[in-house]
Amino acid sequence: MKKNKNLLEIPNINSKDAKLKKLIYEVDDSLFNKEYYSKEKFEHLCVCSGGTTSSCAKNGFTTLDLRKNHSKIHIDRESNLVTIGGGVIMGDLVNHLQKHNRSFPIGLSKLPGAGYILTGGVSPLSRAYGLAIDNIESIKGFLGNGKFISLKKNQINPEEQLIWEAIKGAAPFFSIITEIELKTIQSNPIMVIEGFVNLNELSEIIQLSEEFPENISLQWIYAQKIYIYVVAELKNNLEDKRTEECLMPLYKFPALEKELHENFNKINFFPKELNLYELNSNNHSEVISLLGEDLKNDIPIFIKCLNELMDNKPNDSCYIASQQLGCKTKKLNHGSSFFIHRKSTWKPWIYASWKKNDLQEKEVALDWIYKSWSKLKRFYPNIHLAQLHNHLNSHEEELNLAFGNRVNELKTLKNIFDPQGILPPL
Ligand SMILES: Cc1cc2nc3c(=O)[nH]c(=O)nc-3n(C[C@H](O)[C@H](O)[C@H](O)COP(=O)(O)OP(=O)(O)OC[C@H]3O[C@@H](n4cnc5c(N)ncnc54)[C@H](O)[C@@H]3O)c2cc1C
Repeated sequence: MKKNKNLLEIPNINSKDAKLKKLIYEVDDSLFNKEYYSKEKFEHLCVCSGGTTSSCAKNGFTTLDLRKNHSKIHIDRESNLVTIGGGVIMGDLVNHLQKHNRSFPIGLSKLPGAGYILTGGVSPLSRAYGLAIDNIESIKGFLGNGKFISLKKNQINPEEQLIWEAIKGAAPFFSIITEIELKTIQSNPIMVIEGFVNLNELSEIIQLSEEFPENISLQWIYAQKIYIYVVAELKNNLEDKRTEECLMPLYKFPALEKELHENFNKINFFPKELNLYELNSNNHSEVISLLGEDLKNDIPIFIKCLNELMDNKPNDSCYIASQQLGCKTKKLNHGSSFFIHRKSTWKPWIYASWKKNDLQEKEVALDWIYKSWSKLKRFYPNIHLAQLHNHLNSHEEELNLAFGNRVNELKTLKNIFDPQGILPPL
């Protein structure tokens, strides 16, 4: 059988099914040649790192797959800084760090690639170690006009300052990042409390979590049923006593179980075996990520709203989930970035999928996402642009709610450094 050279083997089914114009692996001059792209189709170059989003490959578009030539990982044992290629996935990063007793605040899945880091990167450990972007020490790559860039924290000259800030949160719009140097963290034991809860219990647990110290975070998913993870990093006897006091109220919930993990690298969140939602390779999907602050007295109305949204979900694969940030992610001493909603303490996301060729089901599923988003806006008014949606009608609103008054700076950067619109459009 003839092998299809333009097949992109990746986790996101929408992108995996796309009929590519061309699949390339090299970042060279021809890449930045406008002849490649057709204006009528608003065609641009798609970039693939982990391949977990619907924007890394599209019908009739060219994809640059960074996984082949930009997948090296190297840790400097003296500084404990790790250098990764732009095509490295987070699972490979933590597996490498594991050998050196180090870790990195990756998200809830090991599948995402550098896109996780460049779009912000919210981890169960972010409350203690900041967002993934807060841990970037240096980057190398190319701007959309083909110019090579190499930037290092604390050595940024004034002309480079805006580029440096925008790389942290908005890189995909004007650059291709081929190398990222990151701070790593000491690998400590992690206590996880997890299990199914009902809505009343979720309400109580959210209330408790809004008082958690920085080493504890809550993440929950409401799919067929509600499943929660409370993640607590253990560091030393004194702090561990306080942690235990904070976790104590959770022990009364009958279905929750406690497990001590050797370290963060070894934890797998939301495994398939839990059957939380329908996983189907014949489905396509989209997801929208929101940002907002503590719910405080609004917890009861939020729970009521959540219940109504879940009552109206169009199929069993749809879900709403949330992860907790705050504490260190609120601090501005990491330097300015394009993750502007620093006050945020919750990042919920709304996921919907449909049978891949069923346009009617797609419309219903997207309609549910948009209606849910509109209802949740009063609690979570902002957007975390972890997925690019330039193929959806919501793109412009998402851009404005993600970058606020920095949207114009981003447009300026795009005009200067990607004047031909080679990279994904704003
Ligand atoms: C199962 C799952 C769990 C997740 N959990 C979390 C979580 O806990 N916290 C969180 O913050 N996010 C989470 N995400 C969201 C995820 O981090 C983002 O969607 C991220 O953008 C995916 O990156 P990727 O490299 O895998 O995707 P890709 O589809 O390969 O790339 C996504 C976009 O980023 C751009 N891009 C990727 N690499 C580069 C590069 N090197 N240079 C320039 N542009 C690039 C591409 O243009 C592309 O449009 C999760 C996603 C999934 C699927």
